[in-house]
Amino acid sequence: MNNSGVDTTIFLFDFDSTFVTVEALDELANIALANAPDRAQSVAAIAEITADGMAGLIGFDESLARRFAQISPSKAHFDALVTLLKHSVSPSFVANKDFFQKNAETIYIVSGGFKDFIVPVVAEFGIDPSHVLANEFTWSSEGQTITGYDTANPLAHNGGKIKAIQALNLPKNAHKIMIGDGMTDYAVRGVGAVNEFIAYTDTVKRKPVIEVADFVATSIDDVLAHTIQPRAIQH
Ligand SMILES: [Mg+2]
Repeated sequence: MNNSGVDTTIFLFDFDSTFVTVEALDELANIALANAPDRAQSVAAIAEITADGMAGLIGFDESLARRFAQISPSKAHFDALVTLLKHSVSPSFVANKDFFQKNAETIYIVSGGFKDFIVPVVAEFGIDPSHVLANEFTWSSEGQTITGYDTANPLAHNGGKIKAIQALNLPKNAHKIMIGDGMTDYAVRGVGAVNEFIAYTDTVKRKPVIEVADFVATSIDDVLAHTIQPRAIQH
């Protein structure tokens, strides 16, 4: 890499199974269905839909709509999810919190998950809501029930991460790195919306994703050691 032609490194992180060690919608389903008589079957069905989506067997729109149809989350379920997620941040992200706080201006979260629960989790790492690209729930008028999600958001559809990153109009000469565990994370590199894709395998190792990655990292330390920009390794 020619440092003289690259003035900034921009890090774009996936959320589910990357920033946190869980799939948030699966956990929300677990919480919302805790007392349902057919709980085990519903949770298993949702996990299967998530896995099919990750493997590219069904489109993201279908995956999201089908998972959402299985659950009727309340504000209490949502609050329980946020608490769970705050305790589920990947250990290597927690160990490098300092890096996130110092470089927050050049860090984005790009997720097919929801701003509603991502923003409070990443806020502790200094990441501003404007740097969280994700879907948004729709709430009942009294704010006690999640009624669905904003289907006009590009991230609710196939290729959403690509559109969301392109809409940022990031500086042309910046080195842009997408870091995540899924094929939708690789896809942004495939179309050239970023310069590099790092497969993050600390939580989940997906062979098809690893095969197309420019680099494979098992921790944030790996990501930083690989990223030779001086600003990225400052302490
Ligand atoms: Mg993920």
